[in-house]
Amino acid sequence: MGVVDYTLAKRALLREFRTGLLSRLEICDAHPELLRAAKYMGLEASRPCPVCNSHDLRLLAYVYADTLKHDNGRPYGIHEALTLAAAHQGGKAYVVEVCTGCNWNHLSESFSVRTATG
Ligand SMILES: [Zn+2]
Repeated sequence: MGVVDYTLAKRALLREFRTGLLSRLEICDAHPELLRAAKYMGLEASRPCPVCNSHDLRLLAYVYADTLKHDNGRPYGIHEALTLAAAHQGGKAYVVEVCTGCNWNHLSESFSVRTATG
């Protein structure tokens, strides 16, 4: 699988928040549906939330693939998402970290399935 890490983009955003360029409301804007998904199927992150420092940080993933049709862009638990992405041609899983304490959310990494031919 091809992996893209979004740590640098996340750090840049957090730096803007800490220097006051961005408000907490601007960076903690998780959609209610995403928060619900994080609460019920999110995997507990091994680190605290970078914004509010609480241990409410959860990981989950969105999956995209042509053959997924209406299930495209639905949040899944991490393990289920990776399995699903791997089972579909051109499948991609986007891991997001979501804090149910302060609504912080950010893309963490993405996994794309490489096909043998391509
Ligand atoms: Zn938080």
